[in-house]
Amino acid sequence: MGELQNINGTLIWYYYICPREVWLIGHGIEADQESDFLLLGKHIHEIFYKRQKKEFMIDNTIKIDILPSKKVIGEIKKSSKYLKSAKMQVAFYLYYLKQKGINIEGELLIPEERKKEKVKLTPNLEKELEEAIKEIKKILKMDRPPRPKKIPYCKNCAYKEMCWS
Ligand code: SF4
Repeated sequence: MGELQNINGTLIWYYYICPREVWLIGHGIEADQESDFLLLGKHIHEIFYKRQKKEFMIDNTIKIDILPSKKVIGEIKKSSKYLKSAKMQVAFYLYYLKQKGINIEGELLIPEERKKEKVKLTPNLEKELEEAIKEIKKILKMDRPPRPKKIPYCKNCAYKEMCWS
């Protein structure tokens, strides 16, 4: 599990949105906790943790058990706008569990759009995830955060004051 050290589901989520945010979160830079955007990223974590019992340590802080549902569930409350991030975050949990010898599938729910998507850790998805993990590590090693880049997400971002005022 050494290669997953310091990597967690939240960082995976933000990697697909903004590398600067990955750096800021990874370095514990305080953000506006009320931000809608930050809460969205945390949501999948909460669902994931809530549905598990205790046994393993995950993300260095949370203990989980063999999954009662035999599935990793993610949920996006707002819309499929964050689909890629959410899908990769669920994939990350599947990957994590695979390293522990548990091979299961995941599901992504988008209640507002009445959509459900299966997430299976295929070799391709696994490869993509490993690339992302490699890149996240590179970002975290940087002395300074990557420069801000204006994207639509900025308007809801917990760091918008820091980046744009
Ligand atoms: S405000 Fe924009 S550039 Fe700054 S961290 Fe957030 S998403 Fe990234």
